[in-house]
Amino acid sequence: LSSPAVDRTWRSTQRARESSASDRVLAVKIGGSLFSDKSVAGSLDKGRIARFARVISSLHERFPGQVVLITGGGAIGHGALRGIDPADPFAAIGLTKALADVRWAWTQALVGLGVRAFPLQLGAMATLDDDLSFRVRADIVERVLASGALPILSGDSVLDANGNLHGLSSDRVPEFLVRALQTPLRVASFTDVPGIVLGGPGGKETLRYVDPMTPQAAYEALWTNSEWDTTGGFKTKVDALIRCAAEGAECFILEGVAQDSEWAYLLSPYSGWSNKLHCTRIARSPAA
Ligand code: ADP
Repeated sequence: LSSPAVDRTWRSTQRARESSASDRVLAVKIGGSLFSDKSVAGSLDKGRIARFARVISSLHERFPGQVVLITGGGAIGHGALRGIDPADPFAAIGLTKALADVRWAWTQALVGLGVRAFPLQLGAMATLDDDLSFRVRADIVERVLASGALPILSGDSVLDANGNLHGLSSDRVPEFLVRALQTPLRVASFTDVPGIVLGGPGGKETLRYVDPMTPQAAYEALWTNSEWDTTGGFKTKVDALIRCAAEGAECFILEGVAQDSEWAYLLSPYSGWSNKLHCTRIARSPAA
């Protein structure tokens, strides 16, 4: 059943989007490294979440219906996958609960600021095809955006065509979104480094642009993550954003600093961004 009021909002939002060429959906991904110490079991820094929630709240207030939040899983997500039996096709089920808890921590922080934040379960909106790409099962994200609420997504355990569960990193959620949304997608993936850093740990230079058709330079720059990382770490992020950009999204890896941040620039044309901002842009065209 769909309510006529929601349908009306949905249709008028669609019309508004069609009439505005610059309109896009912005997915803000907050990496687990920014609110959790992945080497400490169960670590979840609610103070950090509260600070990021304030920045996201003002972004949502300014651009209602255009912002999606994706939360990383941090220690809680990695803990749910550590040591699971590779022979058990349903062993990743614990991730469903673990990441629901993390989404709920963000929901509480945002609702406390007056935002209509609505957590959504990835595994209820998608399955995986044989090549492990997403098959989208519903237009729920679009509907939630059209209602003016802020969808909160995360990684999840997701079924494939044979009934096996896969524990998916939150870094893969943009690949789902690029297929689930009709509108152009921009992805801002915040982590603890200012993009793809060149020259190994501590390197001062950032790779500014990656063409998803020729991404070799991005892969050559990767270094190995710690052994407590159960989802392939930075490589998963880079792989996912390259796939997403190949499907038409404009993706950025940026350093996340919550204090005194103003993120409205994330929805403006890239050509107007400060050139003091170090980040990696992954998109089909080098200029915005
Ligand atoms: P998050 O939890 O924020 O999603 P990850 O821990 O998965 O982030 O990825 C960020 C980490 O990736 C960095 O702290 C760094 O140790 C590692 N990394 C590996 N190669 C690179 C690279 N070339 N540039 C930047 N970071 C890299």
